[in-house]
Amino acid sequence: QEKLSNRINSMATSQTLAMAAKARELKAEGKDIIGLSLGEPDFNTPDFIKEAAIQAINDNYNSYTPVDGYVELKDAIINKFKRDNNLTYDRSQIVVSTGAKQSLANVAMVVLNPGDEVLLPCPYWVSYAEIVKLAEGVPVEVPTSVETDFKITPEQLEASITPKTKMIWYSSPCNPSGMVYSKKELRALADVLKKYPDIIVVSDEIYEHINFVGDHASMAGFEDMYDRTVTVNGVSKAFAMTGWRIGYIGAPAYIARACNKMQGQITSGANCIAQRAVITALDAPVSKISHMIDTFKNRRKLIIDLLNDIQGFVTTEPEGAFYVFPNISSFFGKTIKGHEILNATDFSLFLLEEANVATVTGDAFGNPECIRISYAASEDQITEALSRIKKALS
Ligand code: PLP
Repeated sequence: QEKLSNRINSMATSQTLAMAAKARELKAEGKDIIGLSLGEPDFNTPDFIKEAAIQAINDNYNSYTPVDGYVELKDAIINKFKRDNNLTYDRSQIVVSTGAKQSLANVAMVVLNPGDEVLLPCPYWVSYAEIVKLAEGVPVEVPTSVETDFKITPEQLEASITPKTKMIWYSSPCNPSGMVYSKKELRALADVLKKYPDIIVVSDEIYEHINFVGDHASMAGFEDMYDRTVTVNGVSKAFAMTGWRIGYIGAPAYIARACNKMQGQITSGANCIAQRAVITALDAPVSKISHMIDTFKNRRKLIIDLLNDIQGFVTTEPEGAFYVFPNISSFFGKTIKGHEILNATDFSLFLLEEANVATVTGDAFGNPECIRISYAASEDQITEALSRIKKALS
């Protein structure tokens, strides 16, 4: 430990992965654990995408790729941005990376100087804060709650801005709350940002297609925000391709150029076979993946109905992604079956040990009154998990 850098010693371990590891441990002891902690679709990658990868192997795609991605993939991304989001980018504005996680890390590394503040509306995706810190930035949490649908207001945004604010990062649809900003709500936030032209927006749209309420809105879609918004997206979630590791950005050219330079020294271009397969994935009409979205929609209804049937959980109706984020603070201060519940971590551990259901504490997302439950699991698993939770709390 003493021989390691301050950088790594001050980094928190990913709590979603930590929970998954703990669940695996209990499984190895023979416990029947239902895992509702991971942010990973439980579907196989669609066959038409797998076939494109096999074709790429047979076509001998095996060399280093351009650092920022194959030109054909960049063109597929440009078409996708135009088709789905009405955003116009050219090749100089696109960078393909090893997952949206690397896209985000690149942006942090190339934009932040030590001490620069990054606004993170809570709850935010676990890795945002750690990536920002790694780049020597300062994460600044902007709290929200179940009562406000986990959305920040323009007034809150304005009050959080300081002379050191360099960026704001958010995901919509949001991991972990499932909330989706409407175009009108984004416009209201943009109206505040308009007064602070140096602030860069990182709009993480990786759950774009998993949206149950209507049209997806992009911050870069506003003309006055386009030049300072980085749109992050990827194929992990909607295409069930988490392990393929492809993410990408559409960004102002100077940021894309800098990300290309950064990536060139750290990882080089993303995996060649995966890149070829993603060309096929993005070229396909969205209808090719709608069966997965429909399934998530049915599960969402199921899990909300079951949660509403358990006393003590206060839940919003998530509008996108595949998580519910109930407030469970009514259990704080209670002792249940010998477990003292002081906070969300205690509650999440209680569920793991007494109900054998893995969830993630809201602490990991900057919201210590909630837990995240993923419904990327079968209806049978969801039903069984919620019945066990109800029983453990009865
Ligand atoms: N952004 C959000 C909001 C996520 O939930 C995730 C994955 O959990 C990512 C980015 C990273 O995705 P990728 O698998 O492309 O690295």
